[in-house]
Amino acid sequence: MSFSHLGLSDKVLAAVAATGYTTPTPIQEQAIPHVLARRDVLGIAQTGTGKTAAFVLPMLTILEKGRARARMPRTLILEPTRELAAQVKENFDRYGAGQKLNVALLIGGVSFGDQDTKLTRGVDVLIATPGRLLDHTERGGLLLTGVELLVIDEADRMLDMGFIPDIERICKLVPFTRQTLFFTATMPPEIRRITETFLHNPEKVEVSRPATTVATITQLQVASGREAHDKRDVLRRLLREAKDLNNAIIFCNRKREVAVVHKSLQKHGFSVGALHGDMDQSARTAALDQFRKGEIPLLVASDVAARGLDIPAVSHVFNFDVPHHADDYVHRIGRTGRAGRAGTAISIVTSLDHKSIGAIEKLIGQSIPFAEGSSKAPESEQAAPRERKERSRDSGREGSRGGRKRRHERDAGSNGGRNPAPTIQSPVVAAATTPVIPSSPPRPPSIGRPSPTKNPSSASEPADHSHLPAFLLRPVRARV
Ligand code: AMP
Repeated sequence: MSFSHLGLSDKVLAAVAATGYTTPTPIQEQAIPHVLARRDVLGIAQTGTGKTAAFVLPMLTILEKGRARARMPRTLILEPTRELAAQVKENFDRYGAGQKLNVALLIGGVSFGDQDTKLTRGVDVLIATPGRLLDHTERGGLLLTGVELLVIDEADRMLDMGFIPDIERICKLVPFTRQTLFFTATMPPEIRRITETFLHNPEKVEVSRPATTVATITQLQVASGREAHDKRDVLRRLLREAKDLNNAIIFCNRKREVAVVHKSLQKHGFSVGALHGDMDQSARTAALDQFRKGEIPLLVASDVAARGLDIPAVSHVFNFDVPHHADDYVHRIGRTGRAGRAGTAISIVTSLDHKSIGAIEKLIGQSIPFAEGSSKAPESEQAAPRERKERSRDSGREGSRGGRKRRHERDAGSNGGRNPAPTIQSPVVAAATTPVIPSSPPRPPSIGRPSPTKNPSSASEPADHSHLPAFLLRPVRARV
């Protein structure tokens, strides 16, 4: 199957050819004809499947006819985060280069005035985060009654971030007769309800189960003491000793932890950036750009900030914290091993994480081996009840499931700019003054990939540990 069989316009086909893509991905092949036939589409697909082009290409074809009127966008795309919104805009810029379309971004962290000026000029494609969009409609600067096509992207992430009431309000502001394209990676009951309410006889298009992890990714666990400083110690050693590490994303569960791990790595001489919702937009964009260009090889990130970002060729993913929701694990490690490349995903696991790891292993249908020399933390390391309670309170976690935050707080990256964001040191400083990934002489042997036949944590014969780095052999001290 080639793109020319899908019904796209000549201009769009030329733009696709210019990018070098010759074959549509399964979601593109299945969804594009339905979009062009002006049907509602329910697409179950995660990022990395080519789903953005699955709606951008037919939209460009449809938009070739007609003109935009002031303050009345013709099409509207809703995205959960500013970065994803910006990424969709890049797709329009790339594939729509031959067309004179006005594409506007309405995201938090950017001045209302500039956005207003754009809206006044007339917009063919409006790409927005829900909160900022509603702020504009409430100010009277935007009418959604001219929207012919509505895209709701990453709907399950919108649910996680508490955006569903906003989505429902927006759906009521656009005409009933509009065409709706709805994309989600999973179908929890709340999302099913929304699709039943707002989609009209949709064509269902589903590609690859969201719970599957790519076979080219080597997944490992490394045990750690449960204190944050123990985990930072393990992380540094993993970074120094990892084989073939070109670049890595280090995931933390909380914004606060992202800032702490980022600072700590900088202090230890690593060239590292950070990405979390409390950083202002320019710092987020700068960190992401530097990481994409390879100027900084390490990025510490939270789930919300990193979800769906298209960062090609990430060699390693580290879970500094094991995610509380198993599907977040699939999304995180999906940042590596893209397009058939090899990748490594290593989770730093404490005695507090056994339940979460169990849920992950159940979801992905396979067990995650311990790295050689690393084994499950002893039961005496189990959390005291009080600590467990504190952990579950999880105050700083971004986008906790069902969590509600005030709209403008969420859109501005959660603090709405009222409280100063934690200072994130520029990673450029470290990049200029320190080696990219500092080595630690004398360098111990690397942490090996798991042996397919002998896992030290389960082997019945005594394992030969002579080849292992010393820190992996250190007994874990029990705290009682
Ligand atoms: P997405 O799922 O939209 O985030 O896309 C993931 C990546 O696939 C992006 O880097 C796209 O540029 C790329 N891509 C999209 N469509 C194709 C295609 N037909 N062939 C090859 N790569 C593609």
